[in-house]
Amino acid sequence: MDSALANPPHAKSGVKLIRAKRELRDALIWPRRTGYSIGLVPTMGYLHEGHLSLLRAAHAHCDIVVMSLFVNPAQFRPGEDLDRYPRDEERDLRLAGEAGVDFVYAPPVEEVYPEGFATHVEVEGLTEVLCGDPARRGPEHFRGVTTVVAKLFNTVQPDIAYFGQKDAQQAAAIRRMVRDLDFPVRIEVLPTVREPDGLAMSSRNAYLGAEDRERAAAISRALRAAAEETVRAESLAAGLEAARRELDAAGVEPEYLEARDAEELSSATELNGRPVLVAVAAQVGGARLIDNVLIEP
Ligand code: AMP
Repeated sequence: MDSALANPPHAKSGVKLIRAKRELRDALIWPRRTGYSIGLVPTMGYLHEGHLSLLRAAHAHCDIVVMSLFVNPAQFRPGEDLDRYPRDEERDLRLAGEAGVDFVYAPPVEEVYPEGFATHVEVEGLTEVLCGDPARRGPEHFRGVTTVVAKLFNTVQPDIAYFGQKDAQQAAAIRRMVRDLDFPVRIEVLPTVREPDGLAMSSRNAYLGAEDRERAAAISRALRAAAEETVRAESLAAGLEAARRELDAAGVEPEYLEARDAEELSSATELNGRPVLVAVAAQVGGARLIDNVLIEP
């Protein structure tokens, strides 16, 4: 933070809950005019350490932090877990406040999608693979994400927006949207925060029973094996083999386990000097889990 801004007036005021975009816009007029930088952290709530790492980074680098809390129906397919997605707004507000959030924007669905809503933002190509394969969540999932994030960018007009590497494909789609549509925002993608046994933190981990929770750790073991074996054997195929063995041993059948160019998400078969993303999705008990590892050249 700029030393001149070391003590902005929001410092002691705590977190403010806002439901209406008009009110949020109004609340941000004065800070923006004053020259305060604004950080945005979009979330679906049920906060865990992964979210908190983004909020703390935003608080460290921005004068004002806005966290959105919105379980976005547009990114769920019919039959997915929209209705049972875990929610605890009171706890989220407390944790957000402790992490230095100034405004929590938690709109009702009608505020985001008014009657007659008909406009979408779609990033072609890289949203059609991995989770975006039509046989899986499909490109509509990412269309729901980029549309709601574009709306948030327009409402908040943040200087910096924070996302997690845990959702690597989402981050890639948002980076591309920002580039293609000239959104004046810097995108920061922060590392995946993990449980002590390696399981990537996720609100959906709440769906795991004790036995499945233990099995789920095989996903991060598999990704670690993939990274190590790829580097050791200088072969992505060998890396994927090693990952597959870890999953097999735990009885986890992946929906996909693939190596992709980290930026384009095009298929990667050989190391070619560009970062490679090894990504996995698997249904473990009641939870569909995703995770990935980035293999830098
Ligand atoms: P969600 O509430 O699941 O939509 O996630 C909100 C933001 O937190 C997204 O940018 C996610 O990528 C990020 N996130 C979720 N889990 C983690 C994690 N384990 N580590 C880091 N970031 C995460």
